[in-house]
Amino acid sequence: MSIVYSPKYELDLGGHIWPTIKYRLIAERLLAEGVADAADLVSPVLCSWEALALVHTSEYLTRVRDGTLSEDEIQTLELPWLPELVEGFRLMTGGTCVAAELALEHGSAVHLGGGLHHAFPNHGEGFCLFNDIAVAIRRLQGAGRIQRASVVDCDVHHGNGTAMIFEGDPSVFTFSIHQHHNYPLFKPRSDLDIGLADGTGDAEYLSRLSDALPIVLRSSPDVVVYVAGADPFRGDRLGGLALSFEGLRKRDAVVFEAARSAGVPVVVVLAGGYAADVEDTVDVHVATVREMAQARP
Ligand SMILES: [Zn+2]
Repeated sequence: MSIVYSPKYELDLGGHIWPTIKYRLIAERLLAEGVADAADLVSPVLCSWEALALVHTSEYLTRVRDGTLSEDEIQTLELPWLPELVEGFRLMTGGTCVAAELALEHGSAVHLGGGLHHAFPNHGEGFCLFNDIAVAIRRLQGAGRIQRASVVDCDVHHGNGTAMIFEGDPSVFTFSIHQHHNYPLFKPRSDLDIGLADGTGDAEYLSRLSDALPIVLRSSPDVVVYVAGADPFRGDRLGGLALSFEGLRKRDAVVFEAARSAGVPVVVVLAGGYAADVEDTVDVHVATVREMAQARP
């Protein structure tokens, strides 16, 4: 199994709602439960500024690199500004790039990080400095490794940055299934959007997802990026859907099975997860990796 992970993802954000501790806890649980062994863990590589520029504007990257983002920009990012954020996010973006390459080689791979779907070409938003999903796709396209890609975004929040980046690009099909009345307020159109009502539970969610996946796969992607947010979980502090552990496990199984039967490699990124008890978020993500292992071609 290919699992990209770095202990450097555990940035100290001083009590911020984003539990960066989850990455280490997930890696430890995967090893402790025998889902993975140490040889499965692959280190990410720092994403180059050139690769970031495949998606982001040079003006934005210069401000990030120089630490000269405005107060407004930092407020939109919703993170305390720390100089080490730049390297942390470059590493996390590089991690998705590494995982995407491994997925093409092995049929599937997971990045214990990434899913930074709120980052736009010219600004960061909602805890996302760079859009790792878009950078990884553009890198693979630029290297001639793939022509087409699909994004299956199951985070509870709409994938606004990703939708905007690939708007009007027929080579990338973007799909987002999310809670309609939630952040972000402005939702640029994905190729397929499903905005769910508050409190939607397992049955409705799984039925809508199952109906959508054939449409996504009809776009003939060479790779699927699965944004496996843990925040549709009931009781998530930033989410208002009501999926159970079992519902989320089935969600993962449905996505992996759809991709497997279409013969399309899948790269998993974790995205959000803000349960009051971080162990609940860890449980959801660990189950995703288990499902990926079981669905391996
Ligand atoms: Zn989210």
